[in-house]
Amino acid sequence: MEKIILTGDRPTGKLHIGHYVGSLRRRVELQNSGEYSKIFIMIADAQALTDNAENPEKVRQNIIEVALDYLSCGIDPEKSTILIQSQIPELTELTFYYMNLVTVSRLQRNPTVKAEIQMRNFEASIPVGFFTYPISQAADITAFKATTVPVGEDQMPMLEQTKEIVHKFNSVYGETLVEPNILLPDNKACLRLPGTDGTAKMSKSLGNCIFLSDTEDDVKKAVMSMYTDPLHLQVSDPGHLEGNTVFTYLDAFANDDMFAEYCPDYKKLDEMKEHYQRGGLGDVKVKKFLNCVLQETLAPIRAERVKWEKDIPAVYEILKKGSEEAEKVASKTLDDVKDAMKINYFEDNALIKEQAERYGA
Ligand code: ATP
Ligand code: MG
Repeated sequence: MEKIILTGDRPTGKLHIGHYVGSLRRRVELQNSGEYSKIFIMIADAQALTDNAENPEKVRQNIIEVALDYLSCGIDPEKSTILIQSQIPELTELTFYYMNLVTVSRLQRNPTVKAEIQMRNFEASIPVGFFTYPISQAADITAFKATTVPVGEDQMPMLEQTKEIVHKFNSVYGETLVEPNILLPDNKACLRLPGTDGTAKMSKSLGNCIFLSDTEDDVKKAVMSMYTDPLHLQVSDPGHLEGNTVFTYLDAFANDDMFAEYCPDYKKLDEMKEHYQRGGLGDVKVKKFLNCVLQETLAPIRAERVKWEKDIPAVYEILKKGSEEAEKVASKTLDDVKDAMKINYFEDNALIKEQAERYGA
């Protein structure tokens, strides 16, 4: 079977290092592996509007930011199709039919949506569109017949929901949709990178991010003021790794070569961790190393971004071309779906003939 990727991001802000380790870095590897016949990367503006209905300008302005982040990380428009969700009306149509296959109580059980509702103080006033976005995500994934969805851990419930819709659809209307598989990061620290403030998830909506496009200075400031171990007051105190965001980031980003280059006192991260736990290693030294690690990771991305920033119209052209290509694929899937559901009245000559005969014409 053909291997196809679909993944994406909401244009609610610039992309951050959580996106990078959770999904973006992997996408670029998969893109360059040559194992996938098609790769669709979606800027989910329609989904972003589900909780930003009163602030469409935010979504509109951030489309280019997300596109620039993609291109600067190595998403290659020759190999991957970058599309804007709202420009593919077939996705909305699919969503509408899938809605009939999902119950309200099933949506209410989605733990990611539950947490997001709480975070946005939506408890008493959840927009219907926001509440149902897992269904629209199922439409996005199935429209492109995606087999593989490389995302962070928070997307697990969305993939479960998508699989359920696929099963239900195929069992009611016949084999039509393809069941997707989630591809989570191998590295545990990358499943859900915490925010610089130590909270559970780095998120555009929480303001605890290091953005891929941050300046060298911004990154350094963010690192030096990061949350570590509140019990590690003196350098000589034993430090704790549990919940220590600086070490989680090192788990996500550092490699042995970086130790040789920037912190030769240790050969690898385990040695540094051991020293920290024993006592005698100060947070400042660890943070300085993390700063070097992040600067090395982000410098080439930043440099690439500057190049693309000089030709914004070309970036929009890439998005337009990608959206057009994507629409062709989604339109074919929508035809398959409508055929399966038998809502293809004008193409169904047998139906017209049978009814004509029934009426004796
Ligand atoms: P918002 O706050 O608007 O929801 P977000 O920062 O959560 O924004 P999304 O656009 O919802 O970002 O997520 C895009 C992709 O990035 C998803 O695959 C998601 O799993 C992944 N991702 C987002 N934040 C993190 C994180 N902190 N760690 C790992 N992966 C992440
Ligand atoms: Mg999110």
